[in-house]
Amino acid sequence: MSLLQDAREIHDDLVVFRREMHREPEIGLDLPRTQERVLAALDPLGLEVGTGSALTSVTAVLRGGRRDAANPRAVLLRADMDALPVQEETGLDYSSRVDGAMHACGHDLHTAMLVGAARLLHARRDELPGDVVFMFQPGEEGLHGARYMIEEGVLDAAGPRVEAAFGMHVFSAIDPGGQFITKPGPMLASGDEARITVRGRGGHGSTPVLAQDPIPVAAEIITATNVAVTRQFSVFDPVVVTFGVLRAGTKSNVIPDEAHLEATIRCFSDDNRARLREMVHRVAEGVCAAHGLTCEIEYDAGYPVTLNEESETEFARQVALELFGEQRHTRWPHPISGSEDFAYVLQQVPGSFVGLSAVPEGADPLRADFNHSPRATFDDRVLADGAALYAELALRRLTTARP
Ligand SMILES: [Zn+2]
Repeated sequence: MSLLQDAREIHDDLVVFRREMHREPEIGLDLPRTQERVLAALDPLGLEVGTGSALTSVTAVLRGGRRDAANPRAVLLRADMDALPVQEETGLDYSSRVDGAMHACGHDLHTAMLVGAARLLHARRDELPGDVVFMFQPGEEGLHGARYMIEEGVLDAAGPRVEAAFGMHVFSAIDPGGQFITKPGPMLASGDEARITVRGRGGHGSTPVLAQDPIPVAAEIITATNVAVTRQFSVFDPVVVTFGVLRAGTKSNVIPDEAHLEATIRCFSDDNRARLREMVHRVAEGVCAAHGLTCEIEYDAGYPVTLNEESETEFARQVALELFGEQRHTRWPHPISGSEDFAYVLQQVPGSFVGLSAVPEGADPLRADFNHSPRATFDDRVLADGAALYAELALRRLTTARP
């Protein structure tokens, strides 16, 4: 029987696993119930299992039966496991039972698929010419869980550093259900944040000459930043700067002491990322200086650009094509401007992040509620195929000659 057929045999188990996890979502770096669930599912396989210190991660190593002890090799498969602070509104019979928490980004499907891949590969361990590291990660939603797992050694869990890494993400909109999505080069954006406090001197609104008004200066920072985005950055390497917070003042005839701005700053190359940081400082400080005011800038580095290595992405595409055919593969023409902390793994080892559309049957992909919506619905009929792709990526990557 093919691995894909094996995957379809365990499909019902994966649906049960996923729905149980969906009912009991946990948020952040500390996911004790979820960790327990994964440990219980892996237990019968006898893998080498470790858990995290800074977070409730699970790292499991499957030793290949044909591993060469003198020249060991390993590859890594990753799933994130955390939910979001969202009140579920899907009306599904397996909806979240936890108030204010929901698996609205489909990480429950990722976890189920990776558990499935562990079972599939375990059944074929005698064929494996190397080891597989399974990375079950908390804290993807803004908490840098992948970075903690790297610091705690996940990339070296098998002994040798993993030579390639693959992650998968389901989407509840965009492409038709069942499509596997690949994209060489940048696939997702870096996501940084700037918080700017413009400091002036408050006073009477009738007499601005006796005050230093921070509000028009804050407005000018927004305008000047947007001008800089269009004049100082190539249209062929896009950047997005959105000021989502503008806060100042209490009454029309009172000039406040301060104005406060916050922006999300996204792009698709390390070069632009560094230049954006410099630009935001230069523009904000320069505009303030022009008006005799000062500002304070806090600039938080979020996730880096998710950069898919060319040859690993071509490899992943080939595997998807062989398993599921041309009609179930989409190559994204451009990246999307969300961000993802698997980017940290791809900074360390070559690999690829693969998309999988889980748009429910009958729904229009362009109108369906997207990831993070309280109404986002992920069709778990994709679970067996997703598990099969994970497993085939590891199996075939270890079977091919070392690049
Ligand atoms: Zn996600």
